[in-house]
Amino acid sequence: MDDCPSCRIVKGTGAASAFYEDDLVLGILDISPVNPGHAMVIPRRHAASLAELDEDAGRRIWTVAQRAAAAVRQSGLRCEGVNLFLADGAAAYQDVFHVHLHVIPRYSGDGFHLRVDYDPRPSRVELDRVAARIREAYERLWAFPTG
Ligand SMILES: [Zn+2]
Repeated sequence: MDDCPSCRIVKGTGAASAFYEDDLVLGILDISPVNPGHAMVIPRRHAASLAELDEDAGRRIWTVAQRAAAAVRQSGLRCEGVNLFLADGAAAYQDVFHVHLHVIPRYSGDGFHLRVDYDPRPSRVELDRVAARIREAYERLWAFPTG
């Protein structure tokens, strides 16, 4: 994907400050950090969305993000907490369409906010009805449990 900035980083033709790499993923710093140490884990192989992401790469992304969160906490950077954030789709605030999991170091008063306008709390019947819809689709897509 020549027009993908993350693929250029993977190929080595785009600049990035990396803290980790292996056969499946890269760990790099976000160029517009919420706070110092704001990192991202990206797959080497282009995947615009979660639906396109190979599950082995997905597992590795999670593992590296979990480890990166521990490393940021031990790095001496200001970090009282961590948010992991993944935007899948423009409506979910995805800006670069190459999957990336943010590892965001947080501290109280850092100015980062998630504003949530919750829907009215649904009844158990409604929750069960929605769960059944998702279960049907899940079982249609993945007939067997993960192992
Ligand atoms: Zn890409």
